[in-house]
Amino acid sequence: MAEKQKKTYQKPEATKEELRKMLLETNEKLALANERLIRQEKERTEFFANLSHDLRSSLSVIAGGVELLRTEPDLSPENAELLKSLSARTAFMKRLIEDLFFLAKMDSRTDIVSLQEIDLRAFLEEYMISLSADSRFSDRPLTLDIPEGIPETVQLDPELTIRVLDNLFSNAWKYSPAGTEIALQVQEKEGRLLLCVSDSGEGIAPSELLRIFERTYRSRRERSPEDESSGLGLSIVKSIVESYGGSVWAESEVGKGSTFYLTLPEQDRKDEASRETSEK
Ligand code: ADP
Repeated sequence: MAEKQKKTYQKPEATKEELRKMLLETNEKLALANERLIRQEKERTEFFANLSHDLRSSLSVIAGGVELLRTEPDLSPENAELLKSLSARTAFMKRLIEDLFFLAKMDSRTDIVSLQEIDLRAFLEEYMISLSADSRFSDRPLTLDIPEGIPETVQLDPELTIRVLDNLFSNAWKYSPAGTEIALQVQEKEGRLLLCVSDSGEGIAPSELLRIFERTYRSRRERSPEDESSGLGLSIVKSIVESYGGSVWAESEVGKGSTFYLTLPEQDRKDEASRETSEK
């Protein structure tokens, strides 16, 4: 029997000089790829900004025309109905464009969040007053609960926080019946401050609870013709909260209601220390 000859082939070891050269080449390629990505991202943002501007201005013209026609004294009931529905559609498209643009901006920029020292109690009280002036909430008891002992001043981005709260309160209003309470609460858990918005509405099935924050989530519910929301409300909430390293989640029971929780930005340890000293 012929004897088998076994040969081993091994990659020749690269010399230090060759390794250094390879590393330099890879670094150069990475730097180029990075530059290209930054340029593409910038182009994408500019493209969205221009697109959004063009769409918004065209829509404003259409919406203006529709509203003007609606003031015509001799409108037939059919035309009045048609114009009402056109008005709702344009409002929906305006909202959709704004929300899409906002999400694109959040995706492409890291400098959106601007944290400021804010008196939390005064900020939330002012927010609740502004809500109570909104006619949608005229038949809803609105409550605010801030426990004693939480930091007086916190760091947050007031504009973005208002946007988050607006979306959560709009949902609470939409998905709960007239006369039921909508509550805003501050909680402190494991050194982190939470804002919680609760309603006593229809609730959310456990299988939907995680998915409702996804951009691609489509509610199976029929939209009412007056519903101007884009369906991106919770994606925007998630995107804002995550942009400062926070998290958002919901707890819910079908038929009983829902609570949405979000963490505020991590507060400076310096403040914590001074608070502890002043509490002693
Ligand atoms: P939209 O309300 O326009 O559909 P959102 O992103 O704000 O879009 O919400 C996604 C889905 O989450 C809603 O369609 C609804 O099914 C569910 N949802 C959100 N908030 C609530 C709530 N407070 N109570 C019940 N369901 C809710």
